[in-house]
Amino acid sequence: MQRFATARDAALEMRPDEPVYCFRPDVLKRDAQNFVSMFPGKTAYAVKTNGERLVLKTLAEAGIDAFDVASPAEFAAVRDVAPNAEMLYMHPIKAQSDIRLALEEYGIRVIAVDHEDEITKLTRVVRALDIDPGTLTIYVRIQTKGHAAYELSKKFGAGPANAVELIKRLSRYGFKVGLCFHVGSQIEDPDTYERALASADWVRSRAGVELAGLDVGGGFPAEYGHDPNRKKPEMPSLDELMARLRGDIEEWGFNELPLVAEPGRVIVARAFSLIVRVLLRKGRRIYINDGIWASLSDSWTGKITLPARFIPDPAIRNRNGSQDKLLPFKVCGATCDSVDILSRPFWLPETVDTGDWIEIGHIGAYSLSLRTRFNGFYPDTFVEVDTPFDAGTAPESFASLETMAD
Ligand SMILES: *Cc1c(COP(=O)(O)O)cnc(C)c1O
Repeated sequence: MQRFATARDAALEMRPDEPVYCFRPDVLKRDAQNFVSMFPGKTAYAVKTNGERLVLKTLAEAGIDAFDVASPAEFAAVRDVAPNAEMLYMHPIKAQSDIRLALEEYGIRVIAVDHEDEITKLTRVVRALDIDPGTLTIYVRIQTKGHAAYELSKKFGAGPANAVELIKRLSRYGFKVGLCFHVGSQIEDPDTYERALASADWVRSRAGVELAGLDVGGGFPAEYGHDPNRKKPEMPSLDELMARLRGDIEEWGFNELPLVAEPGRVIVARAFSLIVRVLLRKGRRIYINDGIWASLSDSWTGKITLPARFIPDPAIRNRNGSQDKLLPFKVCGATCDSVDILSRPFWLPETVDTGDWIEIGHIGAYSLSLRTRFNGFYPDTFVEVDTPFDAGTAPESFASLETMAD
């Protein structure tokens, strides 16, 4: 892989017309180790966030030895780079053949369920393979409520009373039983985990079964940009949030249990940026060579403002306007359809023009993993970059006002 000091160097040397992913392995390692140091239990990286081989490999090198997986392809991807790593199969709704594959071929012994029919599938496979249920830990996923860019409680999780029944049943069958929740991605309310812990406590006290663990899922927010035209949500820093979570875990009496977290976004977001090119400027709109069907669907669905840095093409000699004046530009994506328009503008210098590049930062989560081949566009160029996206002070090059103020 080609290596550059900064994404700007990469852009000016490669002059790429296709999107380029800038991978920062050191940032990934540091963010992973930082999370591990703050969480008082096992850290299982959620593979769906970014399952690229180079990401999984770098995480394994950083000491991550547990992975949250959801599909046969994810089992294989983890096994391939980290043969001894533990896999936690935390998708609550599974094909019976996939459960069998997980237990038989991959030796997976930690599984999540949120419905009695999932327990039926599981027990069928366990009997067929003649496995002692006491060697499996089954986490019952409970519903949670809260505010996140992605809310998941409508899709997964058993209501509290139902969860009590599921725990009792699993325990009768001889499984070890844990409780898990996943509050959704990019939480926007610091009370989210506490509310989920309160529900977990309610369920635990009524189930009357000794629990084998508590899995608090993912949802830990990554840092993004901020649209100056909108009210800035009040969120504590990750340090503060984790301190609070540790306090809440203790307060609700879960600190004696083995704990698990399944962070994705917070670990991998900063590890990548993306260089895109302005294919056309049309007034206050820019058309770029990536979009919601490729690397930018998460920012679209989650209405996330991405931090962006302007990389002017030095070959453009005559520019109009002032490079110190930042304006919001509507961003249109690469494909021939009307949906491919970002939900948040990029703040760019008035001088931005056809041929310039933009480095979009903190794009490691739910970007490459969600790209499609729609319309024949499939970004797949990677370079390694040494300098973190946030490093350095070059105000003229920053596209979001917030970053400019730094
Ligand atoms: C997606 C997912 C995660 C990771 O969520 P992040 O918000 O990226 O941390 C963790 N656990 C489960 C069950 C998930 O589905």
